[in-house]
This record gives sequence, structure tokens and C-alpha cells, in this order.
Amino acid sequence: MTTHRQSRCIHCQVKYRYQASGPIPPGGGRSNWGHFCDTCSDAISEALSAIPRRFENSWEKVKSWSVQDCLDHEAKLLEEAKAKAKEEGRPFLPIHRVASPLFDLQDSSNHNRTNYVKMPDGLTYLYSYWTKEGPEKGSVRVEMEKNLETGEMRPW
Ligand SMILES: [Zn+2]
Repeated sequence: MTTHRQSRCIHCQVKYRYQASGPIPPGGGRSNWGHFCDTCSDAISEALSAIPRRFENSWEKVKSWSVQDCLDHEAKLLEEAKAKAKEEGRPFLPIHRVASPLFDLQDSSNHNRTNYVKMPDGLTYLYSYWTKEGPEKGSVRVEMEKNLETGEMRPW
């Protein structure tokens, strides 16, 4: 399925065709930016190519929290949010960042449980485990930034 729309470049104001599902051919063709025409997006890309990347992000495994710590804290936060909604007389609607689980294509009864949870240290962690292995065999990761000049790692 292709999805395209007529757009107007926010810089030069020319009308251009924006392909929301990605450039055709996929991965090729023009830059296909949502706010800039091909001419302006090429100029921006060329200007930015002179600026080296300074940081990169990665999800690093941690041992400071276990999957069970994350599950317990997540349940506590959920109960607190439910109690607060009840206290304020409004319906409870859980809203949180969604994490994509993996799928076991050989055993459909084995489910991957994964979610983001903000822990008491103020950082957001991503836990993941397979139901057949249990939380004790799962992993907990935190998003980190690596300074590409110094190699220093710190929370994203
Ligand atoms: Zn333009």
C-alpha cells in the first residue's frame, strides 16, 4: 500500500509529493522528508554531513534491577494510578509507552513480556522475559548515551 500526499515545503513553499510509507523504491530515491521538498532536504542533508555525530544511544543490560523488581514496581504504580483516579472520581485509563514483544514462532504458548517502567531512581527501564523461562531469566535494560569523543556512557 502506498500513502502519499501533497505537501508544501515549510522553507521554499513549493508543493511536492510526500510518500508517508517511505520513498519509492524503498530505501532509495530522494530523502522524502515530511516538511521539506527534495531540493531543501538535500541542502539540509549536505549541510549536516559536515557535522560529525557526537553521541549514539544503546540499550544496556543492568543488574541494579531485576525483572521481578520492575514487575513489582509496575504493579505498585498501576495501583497508585487506579487509586488516584478513584479519588478524583474519574475512570481509570492506563496510558504508558508501549514496548513491542518478540514472538516465538515455534511455540505459540511461549509469550514474550516486555514493557517500560520508570523505577524509583528516576530512570526508565525496559524489561523483557519469556513466559516459559520466567522473569528470573529475563533482562532489564536502560537507554544510555555514549559520547563518541570520550567513550563516556550516561543515561540517555
Ligand atoms: Zn523547499
